[in-house]
Amino acid sequence: TPATRKKPDWIRVKAPVSAGYHATRRLMREKGLHTVCEEAACPNIGECWQKKHATVMILGDTCTRACAFCNVKTGMPRAVDPLEPQHLAEAIAEMGLEHVVITSVDRDDLPDGGARQFARCISALRAASPATTIEILTPDFLRKKGALEIVVEAKPDVYNHNLETVPRLYRTVRPGARYFHSLRLLQRVKELDPHIFTKSGLMVGLGEERREIFQVMDDMRSAEIDFLTIGQYLQPTPRHHKVERFVPPADFESYARMARAKAFLLVSASPLTRSSYHAGDDFARLREA
Ligand code: SF4
Ligand code: SF4
Repeated sequence: TPATRKKPDWIRVKAPVSAGYHATRRLMREKGLHTVCEEAACPNIGECWQKKHATVMILGDTCTRACAFCNVKTGMPRAVDPLEPQHLAEAIAEMGLEHVVITSVDRDDLPDGGARQFARCISALRAASPATTIEILTPDFLRKKGALEIVVEAKPDVYNHNLETVPRLYRTVRPGARYFHSLRLLQRVKELDPHIFTKSGLMVGLGEERREIFQVMDDMRSAEIDFLTIGQYLQPTPRHHKVERFVPPADFESYARMARAKAFLLVSASPLTRSSYHAGDDFARLREA
């Protein structure tokens, strides 16, 4: 069988050719920033960058872990850049974003897992762009005592951490991570500061079963997670975990219906849903409601 399965026609990937794309790319290079949009070869890049919506990756482009679905390079990362919060704040202010998503590679090499840099970036962004809502997508801070508290104290608007897949598949898909640790992390955010919205996401097509997805939804609601995203896993290169199944759009619709019935505040479930896809639009709608 071929290493990469042929994509069905409901996965249409748009080429990143818009003017907005080039302008954003230039700005990111100037400020020495990395985006997940590029590193993860996200299929929505043309559309998102045209709308000047990007997910910026702090703490470098090299990760200390090697998840089976992820295209970020693994290795020993460089030292933390003290100018990064300022550069990030300048870039976001220049782009005039309403909502920004900040994420990072995993920094198991740092004593605080990068928590302080997240907090510094949030503060710098608040100072430079007070009207911008801030969503952070953090690592799991496994064995980093006190890290979560540092990030929560900086008061992001949305705290996102992806469970990515069902517990049975963690060993192959997310080695190095622990399902219940990740779940508990999000629950702790709510306990520490109930004003922060919590969010998590799943990829489907990795070999999970329907009932396992429903179980994860129940676990998430028990941890009081507010927002849920579900998208199709796409294999970034032939070296990565293979796509077991292209989940048809009707199944995503039924996942979305089930999630709404379980009382998530925001649900996005579609083949091209990504953790940060339309995050700003959805959040604005919620705030207006
Ligand atoms: Fe970037 Fe997220 Fe949009 Fe993908 S969905 S292009 S990662 S902002
Ligand atoms: Fe990719 Fe995050 Fe896993 Fe690192 S921890 S390999 S950045 S998914």
